[in-house]
Amino acid sequence: MGYSLWNDRIVADGEVVIDKEDRGYQFGDGIYEVVKVYNGQLFTAQEHIDRFYSSAEKIKLTIPYSKDKLHQLLHQLVEANEVGTGHVYFQITRGTTPRNHIFPDATVPAVLTGNTKENPRPIENFEKGVKATFVEDIRWLRCDIKSLNLLGAVLAKQEAHEKGCYEAILHRGEKVTEGSSSNIYGIKDGVLYTHQADNFILNGITRAVILKCAEEIGLPVKEEAFTKVQALEMDELIVSSTTSEVTPIVEVDGTAIGNGQPGEWTRKLQAQFDTKIPQAINA
Ligand SMILES: *Cc1c(COP(=O)(O)O)cnc(C)c1O
Repeated sequence: MGYSLWNDRIVADGEVVIDKEDRGYQFGDGIYEVVKVYNGQLFTAQEHIDRFYSSAEKIKLTIPYSKDKLHQLLHQLVEANEVGTGHVYFQITRGTTPRNHIFPDATVPAVLTGNTKENPRPIENFEKGVKATFVEDIRWLRCDIKSLNLLGAVLAKQEAHEKGCYEAILHRGEKVTEGSSSNIYGIKDGVLYTHQADNFILNGITRAVILKCAEEIGLPVKEEAFTKVQALEMDELIVSSTTSEVTPIVEVDGTAIGNGQPGEWTRKLQAQFDTKIPQAINA
């Protein structure tokens, strides 16, 4: 048993009650975030909170708390659950009303919930790399919103899982967009390529950290889409997210990437990323 975030309060898990007419439950009408916790400390929380508010604005949902209040609540939740290394999940929906596509009126409060999970860093994946598979990107045209509507992502990830792969590399026609819950990068001849941050991808907070790391280690970046064929010919491929950090992809649909081992630039990016991880306060 632990504690959950429920609107503006931290409560015992069992106290949270969600109505069957919650619009998140019926329509997926809401948005979410996942924030990594390292050694008891939230990582890039402000960036995630900013994106949460920006997603909310894009779907015309008003969050009835200030960013500072939300930050404070997340911090309290992590403390209450004594999270060491893991993550915080939180979401907000457009509230509870009799089912109707049309927005409820402004007096209906949004429903905010959150919880934490202890979750070690996937070190083995970082060291050995993972397999991926191409899946057609059938999602909507506002992938820049971290929406609770995840059917397109769920179907893609399940397909990858059934093929024994860690992630689905999504593509619209020939062009690679991103992963089902991650961003995708290729490195070729000392240049890092990744899809531009437009409506076809979710602009990852980890993506921003990686682009910063690339700059710091002298790896030039081109934010432009590459094709499936180009993906297979990359020297190195990477998948990133809050929980995946910098994970090398060493095989796609049976084709080895580079020499089938995590590459040199990937190693350097991982090492640079590690320097940014918060250490325990009393360590
Ligand atoms: C959350 C997510 C990402 C990764 O974003 P991070 O902020 O790095 O965790 C990438 N793509 C999709 C579709 C996502 O939902």
